[in-house]
Amino acid sequence: MNTAHDVINPATEQVVETVRLCSVAETDEAVAKAVRAQRTWAALAPADRARLLRRFADAVDGDVENLARLEVRNSGHTIGNARGEAANVRDVLEYYAAAPERLFGRQIPVAGGIDVTFQEPLGVVGVIVPWNFPMPIAGWGFAPALAAGNAVLLKPAELTPLTALRLGELALEAGLPEGLLQVLPGAGPVVGERFVTHPDVRKVVFTGSTRVGTRIMAGCAQQVKRVTLELGGKSANIVFADADLERAAATAPYGVFDNAGQDCCARSRILVQRSVHDRFMELLEPAVRGVVVGDPNDEKTEMGPLISAAHREKVAGYVPDGAPVAFRGEAPDGPGFWFPPTVLAPVEVTDPAFTEEIFGPVVTVVPFDDEADAVRIANDTDYGLSGSIWTRDTGRALRVSRAVEAGNLSVNSHASVRHSTPFGGFKRSGLGRELGPDAAAAFTETKNVFISTEE
Ligand code: NAD
Repeated sequence: MNTAHDVINPATEQVVETVRLCSVAETDEAVAKAVRAQRTWAALAPADRARLLRRFADAVDGDVENLARLEVRNSGHTIGNARGEAANVRDVLEYYAAAPERLFGRQIPVAGGIDVTFQEPLGVVGVIVPWNFPMPIAGWGFAPALAAGNAVLLKPAELTPLTALRLGELALEAGLPEGLLQVLPGAGPVVGERFVTHPDVRKVVFTGSTRVGTRIMAGCAQQVKRVTLELGGKSANIVFADADLERAAATAPYGVFDNAGQDCCARSRILVQRSVHDRFMELLEPAVRGVVVGDPNDEKTEMGPLISAAHREKVAGYVPDGAPVAFRGEAPDGPGFWFPPTVLAPVEVTDPAFTEEIFGPVVTVVPFDDEADAVRIANDTDYGLSGSIWTRDTGRALRVSRAVEAGNLSVNSHASVRHSTPFGGFKRSGLGRELGPDAAAAFTETKNVFISTEE
């Protein structure tokens, strides 16, 4: 049975659009269509596939402003961030447009013949996306998958389907074969689950919570289905006494409050060397109070609302009455799912706010004594996605980067994502890597062929 879903603008609480949700039967039809489209696509010359992907990138480029405005209504992202996210889809498509002509096999020396490998497409790939970054996460899945010769079924999150649907239209406008990239809005346990169980979906790329990711991996295991998981995080921002403290404090809010903290890479545990802890807090306070929270359409706004009332309630649960709020910023009253940037300190390292992914604008600050202590606290989590290290000592920066169990670390920076470098988590933050030079190959099977030269 189909149901419809009202997409709510999180900054106004108004209905933006009502979207029909796909059923299992419609998902099955889409899979069948994708199987046919994939055959057509894989039969094209690599240069023609590359050309169509570049056209898709151009179509996205021409639509950046429209996509960004739509994303503001769809997810409450600030207009500046939304423009960057649309441009990221363009960049990812441009980057992987090079792949069809560069997915090289190998010739391996063997006795009695010639041995070669081929990188064959998997077939149909299901990409399941969360609501926090609807456009980039979709692009990180579909761009390398298409480039490697696959068809893609894209399931956006129930709350944020609008920009994904527009990307699907742009693919068709750019001339991609009908059925090659299909966007299927729907409930996770309906459409997403069907990607997992359908035998013709050969790989599932899932980004979302560790809870659902675990379930998806178990389902894929039943069929030995390929799976990539990008899951939760509780990343550390480690500030050593020898760091540029002014810069570390001024940028710390952007390392955690960007996208209102609804970021798997959010540096939501700030660890500060004890000798500079008080000075750091003095510098952090004006930076946090200065974060501009409000209308995401305003160019000056730095932080928008949370995605929904239910999510705001979950975030607020980490800041109950009597919580150790060191200081917090401002948030608008009235309609919209607002929550102020909030700093909790002092907290215990066993506090749920310090150990659990809050996925909102709440950060905890904890002191540490020395390098070993910092690494121990940073690694004392099941997650391992991201993190920052602030120090002027290059040797320490490298030692700590190697010791922290996380997939994406930055030194004197909070940048986690570049389309040309690998992205993904250690431990319960995920499995596999997206982006970077190897992502297209992750959507292929290696086939080995031996050709006898015996007479
Ligand atoms: P979620 O796990 O609830 O949902 C993610 C997606 O999975 C949605 O599209 C949902 O419809 C679908 N889904 C839900 N149940 C399903 C099921 N049984 N089978 C198949 N699909 C199902 O996550 P969310 O609340 O949308 O997103 C927030 C989470 O995503 C956070 O934990 C965050 O850290 C994580 N995340 C991780 C990354 C990363 O790259 N590591 C990036 C962004 C978000």
